[in-house]
Amino acid sequence: MIDILVVGAGPAGLTAAIYARRAAKQVLVLEASTYGGQIINTPDIENYPVAAHISGFDFATKLYEQAVALGAEIRFEKATELFEEGDHKVVVTPKNRYEARAVILATGSENRKLGLERENTLLGKGISYCATCDGAFYRKKTVAVAGGGNTALEDALYLADLAETVYLIHRRDALRGDAATAEELKKRENVKFIWNSNVTKLLGEPRLQAIEVTDKGGSVSTIPVDGLFIAVGRIPENQNFAGLIDLDEGGYALAGEDCLTRTPGVYVAGDTRTKTVRQLVTAAADGAVAATAAIHYVNGTSNR
Ligand code: NAP
Repeated sequence: MIDILVVGAGPAGLTAAIYARRAAKQVLVLEASTYGGQIINTPDIENYPVAAHISGFDFATKLYEQAVALGAEIRFEKATELFEEGDHKVVVTPKNRYEARAVILATGSENRKLGLERENTLLGKGISYCATCDGAFYRKKTVAVAGGGNTALEDALYLADLAETVYLIHRRDALRGDAATAEELKKRENVKFIWNSNVTKLLGEPRLQAIEVTDKGGSVSTIPVDGLFIAVGRIPENQNFAGLIDLDEGGYALAGEDCLTRTPGVYVAGDTRTKTVRQLVTAAADGAVAATAAIHYVNGTSNR
């Protein structure tokens, strides 16, 4: 019987593991892919208190090492089921079945797709969801970034240092991402903004060679590109746990700042929960709050 089982080894999950271990609870963290979550792909974090500049990879690695050094066990298995059995919870993976007193869901989110024909088959052949992973393949080439949030802006900025030309294609005429990053991007001469437009077709065989772009008025144009980086948001990964938690219409786990779900002993932390500010610092804060609640629950001293 595990005291606290954490699903997800991103900033929220690993912070929860650190807090739970410091309270001397036995902790198992399950991670479906690699530790660090979304932040591992961020080239430079400059909005985390005290760390003026740190790469996402370094941040995630330090966090992982800190949790492990404190005694958290981390296993790379995907949690596919969660249910209650008597007074404890059961988490199932393709390899194992784990029993835990409390569970913290910190599963983050996955890339939203544009939903275009051949979007999957062109992955790695011109289509990418990660500029820091694949940007180097596009040195001195022409690329486009789809989206208007912080990820799209940061991707475009990163690519502007490598590629010859970067098109930023956004479906509205105002960016969603931070003004400071947007201003920095607007200073770059090799970045061209295409407003009120969507990518509507992927052209080229066997690699992407061009994209079809359609504006709000219905005008269609073709832009030759070597790569398209899709950064149109993320989708929470909560469906496997819907039996014990409520989800909103976007699939986010319904919980307030207290990270409590409708099931006592089940908590949600980080990007996967309903919240207004999805940032590294708020993910870490959620990890601390959820772990503290879970510690109380395991100790029988409340929540809830
Ligand atoms: P996001 O903020 O949800 O932005 C998604 C963007 O994609 C929006 O501009 C949206 O357009 C557009 N979009 C959504 N669906 C689309 C579709 N089907 N076709 C075309 N465009 C579409 O997602 P994100 O940029 O991945 O960021 C996720 C969260 O992480 C945000 O809270 C963000 O602030 C945070 N983040 C923070 C940092 C940082 O602090 N350094 C870095 C990266 C991300 P509309 O604007 O019209 O809705």
